[in-house]
Amino acid sequence: MKRILQLILLATSLCGCQDRALYKDTQAMMGTFVEVISPDKGAGDIVFKEIKRVENLLSKYKEDSEVAKLNKSGKLRVSPETFYILQRAKEFWQVSGGAFDITVSPLMDLWGFTDKEYYLPKKEEIRKALRRVGFEKIIFNPDDNVVKFKLSGMKIDLGAIAKGYAVDCAVRKLREHGIKSCLISAGGQIYALGDKFGKPWRIAIRNPRKSGLWDYLELRNKAVATSGDYEQYFIKGDKRYSHILNPKTGYPADSGIISTTVIADDGLTADALSTSIFVLGKEKGLNLAQRFKDVKVEIIEGKDIKGSPSLRNDSERKFDDRI
Ligand code: ADP
Ligand code: MG
Repeated sequence: MKRILQLILLATSLCGCQDRALYKDTQAMMGTFVEVISPDKGAGDIVFKEIKRVENLLSKYKEDSEVAKLNKSGKLRVSPETFYILQRAKEFWQVSGGAFDITVSPLMDLWGFTDKEYYLPKKEEIRKALRRVGFEKIIFNPDDNVVKFKLSGMKIDLGAIAKGYAVDCAVRKLREHGIKSCLISAGGQIYALGDKFGKPWRIAIRNPRKSGLWDYLELRNKAVATSGDYEQYFIKGDKRYSHILNPKTGYPADSGIISTTVIADDGLTADALSTSIFVLGKEKGLNLAQRFKDVKVEIIEGKDIKGSPSLRNDSERKFDDRI
């Protein structure tokens, strides 16, 4: 993979002192671009190394990852770290009443979201795939960390929780290295560590249907995650089908939400909650969010199926990043 390493002087003080410089690095990983902005030149390497490590452990697309091996064999003794993530995924499955469910993988394959060869399945195909979906069909043995699927053909997909966790791990590493100011952005997943020269980091929320901005956030030591229907989707007839699925119906979530942003103390919570709320819809989603301490939610509902946000444009430059 070609590494894009950019050193961009984003900000200098009025006198132009070097100690007010911000460094920006970008690398492709976890199916997106991870962007790191920090006054500390070493921040990028620390973040990329840690996110890569988590990707190699949890990505279903990496043949040697524990998740890929489990998906292949249906039974695996996993590391304590993977076991922990699976338990956290279970917690969100429970609190969301099954709206959040990492066993959606066979449905992701069927709809073509895994390989981006989109396909509108027949009802019978969905019915068949649904048999292999359901977190209750995973058996955990905490004594030896063995994870086992009850049915052959089951698969898990940590796409709705792994990025948040990876960003948390990266933040922990930055803190261990004494880095106190850094913005990490990994495709809809952000962590704002500390502040930017005494001021909060400024994050723009994109308009999910047009170019331009919806809102902006000012953050210090907070994680943000956005789940929307505008990044991975296809339109067929008068319907938009996006990559967040309702595990009960087997169809893409159709709750009226087109984008939901969750601010939390940690990335894993923000990530898993934003996906859960997207499936549950506004009312149930907000009820769920209330059960978490220090969580804020912004929901955008809509009926318009067409349109998607443009990439960063000039009006967004005054922001440190956008989701
Ligand atoms: P993003 O892909 O932008 O990070 P999310 O965090 O909402 O957005 O995660 C969506 C991903 O989660 C999908 O690509 C898929 O891998 C997985 N997924 C889809 N539906 C569900 C669901 N109901 N519960 C848990 N994971 C899901
Ligand atoms: Mg998520």
